[in-house]
This record gives sequence, structure tokens and C-alpha cells, in this order.
Amino acid sequence: MSARGRSGLVVGVDLGGTKIEAVLAVRGPKGALEVLERTRVPTGGDDGYEGVLKRAEGVIRALAPGEEIATIPIGMGMPGGTMRRSGLVKNCNLVCLNGRPFRADLARALGREIGFENDANCFALAETVLGAAAPYREGLVFGVILGTGVGGGVVIHGEIWSGAQGIAGEWGHHAIRSDGALACYCGNTGCLELYASGPAVERDYRERSGQHLSLAEIAAKRSTDAHADAAIRGLVEAYARGVANLIDILDPGAIVLGGGVSNLDVLYEEGARRVAELVFNDELTTPILRNALGDSAGVLGAALMAR
Ligand SMILES: [Zn+2]
Repeated sequence: MSARGRSGLVVGVDLGGTKIEAVLAVRGPKGALEVLERTRVPTGGDDGYEGVLKRAEGVIRALAPGEEIATIPIGMGMPGGTMRRSGLVKNCNLVCLNGRPFRADLARALGREIGFENDANCFALAETVLGAAAPYREGLVFGVILGTGVGGGVVIHGEIWSGAQGIAGEWGHHAIRSDGALACYCGNTGCLELYASGPAVERDYRERSGQHLSLAEIAAKRSTDAHADAAIRGLVEAYARGVANLIDILDPGAIVLGGGVSNLDVLYEEGARRVAELVFNDELTTPILRNALGDSAGVLGAALMAR
């Protein structure tokens, strides 16, 4: 039987800063997804808003052609959020979308509404239903993104909890420092993102050493370079404070890490030991997990919450 005409078809789209990735999948029992087709195009954010809108529409129409567009559930994950009252995009690193009614414009172009979520929420959902945190899906799972930025998503009983105002899981902008804290673009000071993102560690190293190195290079030089050691220790401390704070508040069944920074072994070893020291408990039983789905989590999460 061909893909077309099968029941349970869904489309998931991951609108990223550099590429738009989408899948056509079939929903199975317990949230299982069988991916039938996968497509990927450059986002082309430099072309501006209309171009991104057109490409997003094109990717969706390629997977749900003709009249299928009206009936197939569709979900899209994207960076940043949407202001509840105005429907305008905010805090999106695909900057041409900021202040624009992307969701409404895409709905008009497609002739229908689709599901929308922050990409960190899609990551958390996919890792909870299909990935590393699957054994914990009956409880609460916190998905952490440590990359160019720091974000997170909350999943309860296998469903995204986006919050009363849509800001649940915005973990990167809770302050972990006050005295002498750095100023954040969000308007606050001392935000976790300023100390635990990839660019933050690279900046810290540059200020200490005068050298530009990537995060991976800094981590690799740790045993032979005192500046690298100091920068990684700064990352570990910030990360551990952030994780201990979120465990104190939510006490999740599991925490799963994603994003480029999450590849560093130090977060699961020294980092986890430091979390145990800081958390409001005499032991740390919360599993801190590596993600299992890699780059596919975003698009799979979007397909899971398609409607
Ligand atoms: Zn901030």
C-alpha cells in the first residue's frame, strides 16, 4: 500500500535558523511514529519574511499535496515564541520573523490552522515520547536545550505544558547571578543563558586568553590550558545551579539534554556531582540523560503535536 491514503498521516515541520525540515509520518500506538518521507530546504532568512513564509508553505504542500492539505494534522516547531494577545513572533533567532504575525500568515497561505510550538517544547516532547526519557513519560520530564541559546520545555504525562502565558520552560532566562552579573538582551541581568550557552563559554575563554576557540576546542584543552579549565568550570557551575534550581521547583522524573553544549561529557559527570551538592536534598536521584534522537527531535516533536 502506498503512503498516500493510509490513515493516521501527520506532517511535522521544524523551522530552524538555517533549514526547514519536515516529515510525513504515520501515527502508531502510544505516540509511535513511522516516518515515510523527509524533506529539507534552506530557510533563507536573509531573503526576509516573505521568502521564509513561502518556503514553509511549500514544504508543507509538498508533503500534503492537493486536497490532503485540509485533512492531515500538521505541527510546526520554531525558535522563539508568539505573544498570546497579539499573535506576533518574539525572541526568534530567525530575526526576520520577530514582530510579524507568522502563524496567522501561514494559516492564511495554507487555508487552515496548524499546531505551533516553541522548538524546545518539541524537543522535550519527542525525547519524552520516543527518546531518552521514554521510561519517564508517565511523570514530568524537563527537556533542556544548551546550544547557541539556552531553553527548555516541560512535558507532563506525555504532553507539552506550555504554561498559562506560554513561557513554561524558559529556563535560560532565570537569573543565576546578581552581583556583577552580565546584562541580557531580554532586559534582565545574570540570566543562565549568559553563562551556559556555547557562545557564553567561548566569550569567557576569549576574555581570559585573548584567543578565539570553539567550545569543543576549549573543552579538549582543559587539562593543558588553565584558561580553558576556568571557562569550563564556569560552565559547569552555571549549569549545575540552573539544573539544581529547576529540580528544586519541579522535581522532574528525568531531565534530558539537547543542543551542541550537551555533547560535553563533563555535564554528566562533574556537572551532575555539582547538581547533587546544590539541590535541596541529601541525594540526587534525578536522571540527567543524553538525548537519543539528535537533530531529529525537533521535527518528530512537531509531528507528535500536529493537529
Ligand atoms: Zn535573559
